[in-house]
Amino acid sequence: MYNDFMTTAYSFVPSPKHFYPDHPEEPRRFDLLAPRLDSFGAQKLDADPATREEVARVHDPNLIEALENICKQGPAIIDSAPTFVTRSSFDDALLASGGTLSCARAVLSGSARNAFALVRPPGHHAEPTRSMGFCIFNNVAIAACDALTRGINSVAIVDYDAHHGNGTQAAFMDDERVAYLSTHQWGIYPGTGWYEEAPNAKKRIVNVPLPVGSGDQTYKRIADEIIMPFIQTFKPEMVLVSAGFDAHWNDPITTLGLSTTGFYMLSKKLVDLAEEHCGGKIVFVLEGGYDPVNLANGADAVFAALTGKDFVDPRDVSLRKEVDASEMVEKVCEWHGF
Ligand SMILES: [Zn+2]
Repeated sequence: MYNDFMTTAYSFVPSPKHFYPDHPEEPRRFDLLAPRLDSFGAQKLDADPATREEVARVHDPNLIEALENICKQGPAIIDSAPTFVTRSSFDDALLASGGTLSCARAVLSGSARNAFALVRPPGHHAEPTRSMGFCIFNNVAIAACDALTRGINSVAIVDYDAHHGNGTQAAFMDDERVAYLSTHQWGIYPGTGWYEEAPNAKKRIVNVPLPVGSGDQTYKRIADEIIMPFIQTFKPEMVLVSAGFDAHWNDPITTLGLSTTGFYMLSKKLVDLAEEHCGGKIVFVLEGGYDPVNLANGADAVFAALTGKDFVDPRDVSLRKEVDASEMVEKVCEWHGF
């Protein structure tokens, strides 16, 4: 049970100088979100940059040093996604991780009931030894490792971004203290996340690769038949969520079919599971989402779930015909014994 006096918290790291012309991961993503922050009924937390030591719990010190040097040289493309850096990107990435840490620590210390880190650059593609996929440092993984140094023994990360969080999976493939579940569109970047990919970590590394057009009905089944038993089996002491709003039906770079009401349903389910299993300790961390309207509406849906408000957006009905993804849902359940 949560204490009614405890509030929902958030951090906001818009990184306006982390910008590359014609790139979808741009500061404009936050244009409609920023003016709405005061309406979410949440308390703003300050964000301090993460330290190199905190980042090095996930990332190779050689990568951290190389990134610092590359950024000093000015704007550059560092992988084929393409991932860009500018002169400010190293500091922006430290601040995005720091904003995530401030949310997680507020929840762990009990000064906030739950929280949402609204940060960029995003993190879930960043692997221990390489930055990729628009991501510099893996914010959610850094927060999970930090929690493990603060008396938490197990963390579950649920990732509903439209892309597979290869970086988060890589960080925890052999770490039994952290479980990872990802729903994602199959066949797009980064190409990983097949359901049989982690045979030695059944029930702990759970991938749900979805066909084009999977939408609200499929995600409702996944919430009930995969996410629920995943949390019940792993029994985490804290839940982190990689929240990407690119699974929305009109996202410009993917072709899944969630509506904003669907994002609410999924987020509410996660908040309820955290309430039931780990005293409500849950932190959402922004990943992708490339349409500013969807991103602001998606944040609205997550804050409604975090603050216990109802949410329905009757205007946001998917124009994408929902496909039947039952076969994959059943295969995933069978593989893990859920
Ligand atoms: Zn994504």
